[in-house]
Amino acid sequence: MEGSVSKYFATEVGDAAANDAIQALGGYGYVREFEVEKIKRDIKITTIFEGTSEIQRSIISTFRLRETVRSKGRFYLDRAEALEKLSTDCGAQAVARSIRLLNDVVLNTRKYKLTRSQHVMFLLADMMTWCEVGEALCHKAAAIQGENRSPEFLKAVARLFALEVATKVYSNGTKIAQGCDEIMGEVAPKIKELDLGEISRNYMADMDQVAARSCGSDRFPPLGMTSRTSITVRPGQAGAGEEDRRSNGAFTKSRGLIRS
Ligand SMILES: Cc1cc2nc3c(=O)[nH]c(=O)nc-3n(C[C@H](O)[C@H](O)[C@H](O)COP(=O)(O)OP(=O)(O)OC[C@H]3O[C@@H](n4cnc5c(N)ncnc54)[C@H](O)[C@@H]3O)c2cc1C
Repeated sequence: MEGSVSKYFATEVGDAAANDAIQALGGYGYVREFEVEKIKRDIKITTIFEGTSEIQRSIISTFRLRETVRSKGRFYLDRAEALEKLSTDCGAQAVARSIRLLNDVVLNTRKYKLTRSQHVMFLLADMMTWCEVGEALCHKAAAIQGENRSPEFLKAVARLFALEVATKVYSNGTKIAQGCDEIMGEVAPKIKELDLGEISRNYMADMDQVAARSCGSDRFPPLGMTSRTSITVRPGQAGAGEEDRRSNGAFTKSRGLIRS
């Protein structure tokens, strides 16, 4: 089960990252000489072989639903309670609230017999996957010590992902609880209580911290600012094309960053 969650999440996120890399490089990202398009094709196949993403989603929702029903809801409630004991600065409280809501949606999905719809099961699988990845990240961020990846950096990553978790649960939960034939009267008000506004606090500051750590603060000014920066690609570096290697000279591609 955990293997399905890992495989589904890692391959889909890798595919999205490769897509972003192409977009960030503009036309150079698309042409063969720059290898990014090859990375995109190579990562795409990982969402297909060794169990497609759709098959992983079927496995995740079917098995987790069964565990939730068998344990009378304890499976996810125990995870939420463990998160609630962690420090408050790693997004754990937001993920715990999301997991409690996921639990309610799962139990009511079965009660209202919506499990016959594969689309609903896929919505559940995504909620489960994001919650379980967020849970693992919170535990790691709360426990980490040392210099290489500073605790502050990982906590900012965990807080940002906690917002992704809450957004996923809010969005998919609303579709299931209010978008199907029957309105889940007991779940709909709980979804509204998942305060995305509160969870979004410090979003921009956390994004700045992660961008600065990941890419070098001199290259990435605070989000919200418009600036120009440049990327220098030297021959032999990943991303250097044939034409560039032939001319044996570095070239600079000017890029405008518009973040607002
Ligand atoms: C480069 C490459 C290397 C490979 N290497 C190996 C290997 O080493 N060993 C090996 O055994 N196989 C290998 N495969 C085969 C690979 O495992 C299959 O391509 C994969 O399982 C998908 O099967 P399929 O191509 O028949 O697609 P299909 O099963 O026809 O699926 C097509 C689409 O329909 C979706 N779909 C299918 N069934 C359902 C369902 N019940 N519900 C919802 N959606 C569904 C799938 O998710 C997919 O999106 C390889 C494939 C490639 C392209």
